[in-house]
Amino acid sequence: MLSDTHFYFNQAADVLGLSDIVRKILLTPQRTMTVELAVENCEGELKYYTGYRVQHNDARGPMKGGLRFHPSMDEDHASALAGLMTWKTAVVDIPFGGAKGGIDCNPREMSDKDLAQVTRLFVAEMKDFIGPTIDIPAPDMNTNARVMGWIMDEYSKFKGFSPAVVTGKPLELFGSEGREEATGRGVMISLREALTEQGKSFSDITVAIQGFGNVGSNAARLIADHGAKIVAVADHTGGVSNEDGLDIAALTAWVIETGGVKDFAGGSGFSGDSIITWKADVLIPAALQDVITEENAHEVKAGLVIEAANAPTTPAADAILLERGVIIIPDILANAGGVTVSYFEWTQNIQQFRWELDRINDELNKVMVKAYRGVSDVAAEFQVDLRTAAFILAIRRVGKAGLARTHLDPATFIG
Ligand code: NAD
Repeated sequence: MLSDTHFYFNQAADVLGLSDIVRKILLTPQRTMTVELAVENCEGELKYYTGYRVQHNDARGPMKGGLRFHPSMDEDHASALAGLMTWKTAVVDIPFGGAKGGIDCNPREMSDKDLAQVTRLFVAEMKDFIGPTIDIPAPDMNTNARVMGWIMDEYSKFKGFSPAVVTGKPLELFGSEGREEATGRGVMISLREALTEQGKSFSDITVAIQGFGNVGSNAARLIADHGAKIVAVADHTGGVSNEDGLDIAALTAWVIETGGVKDFAGGSGFSGDSIITWKADVLIPAALQDVITEENAHEVKAGLVIEAANAPTTPAADAILLERGVIIIPDILANAGGVTVSYFEWTQNIQQFRWELDRINDELNKVMVKAYRGVSDVAAEFQVDLRTAAFILAIRRVGKAGLARTHLDPATFIG
């Protein structure tokens, strides 16, 4: 995964004619930390975990990125995802850099008490390296608002009341209105902008979505509300399709009740894997990384792919899709709605003032529209695809901010 991010970065760096030394500076994380987390669990057993935090770049502001709790968590994952966050925050032009981290634990096999203990120990070890003006964690895979609440509480024990140390908190603990659906809303806005460019509207299109969790279900609801037909949805349990458009409210209720889309009565079942090659105008991967590959890219029928998940397209598949004329809205643009509303949460915490939902959605719309059009303009200027354009935009912003802090002339180093 690290090599995929570097590949896309280098594609844009080639267009900009960046030197090797500037590439190295921009690609290398500023700080990489591992901490030992040895705890006695509820059963009296001694358990050992490793905590990671990679702080990639803070040229444009405090670093921002999720905390992932998963047995596969390691430095390589954290490093790749931290870099993506630097480029993502730059694309949407919010005043943050990028970071990522986590713990190599499996929350499904741990009691809440054990999980809280490990989380608090991680914060105690990291307390001098995170903070509202340094590095602000957020939820990611297997972490949620509750875990963010523990982080705020533990950090505040050492540093005093500090809601802005972490985002994605529960509403009653200084979280933000609109955060839950923000990534899905950003996906809908990206799609709307792409359709507008093509002279189309939501009512003209059919959509297939992989993943019906936070991002996929919210994106499906908002896109369907605007008049598009969601003709197929797949998740880890299987797939369900309906040519007339699935009833997303009913499907959501079914998934809450049963845990997955399988056996939903409002459509026909199919094996979830074929969602990537489903006959639809738009494909939205909103589940896993590396799902559009060299093997299936030739069979993708959609003309537009909106990357709601992080890194769903391998570089080889990306090249095949582009060759076939498929338009890809890259992850660092399409799924940036979440980190944008995280920025609003941090802002509200610092202001000690709560914004209404309408204001959140209004500001999110402005940020996403500006980002989309900025990327589209760069694509036209350099005659490149949207992913390369997004990286060009981000590299310029990050590189110039870093150099503006020095006596060096940014124009000499960044095109
Ligand atoms: P989630 O855990 O809420 O949902 C994940 C969905 O993926 C579920 O519907 C699950 O059934 C499905 N899934 C899992 N394995 C699958 C498989 N093998 N085949 C098909 N579907 C499968 O996660 P989420 O928060 O919706 O995140 C989804 C993606 O979006 C991830 O890549 C995440 O990194 C990315 N993302 C999320 C946010 C956010 O704010 N939540 C922000 C940016 C990016």
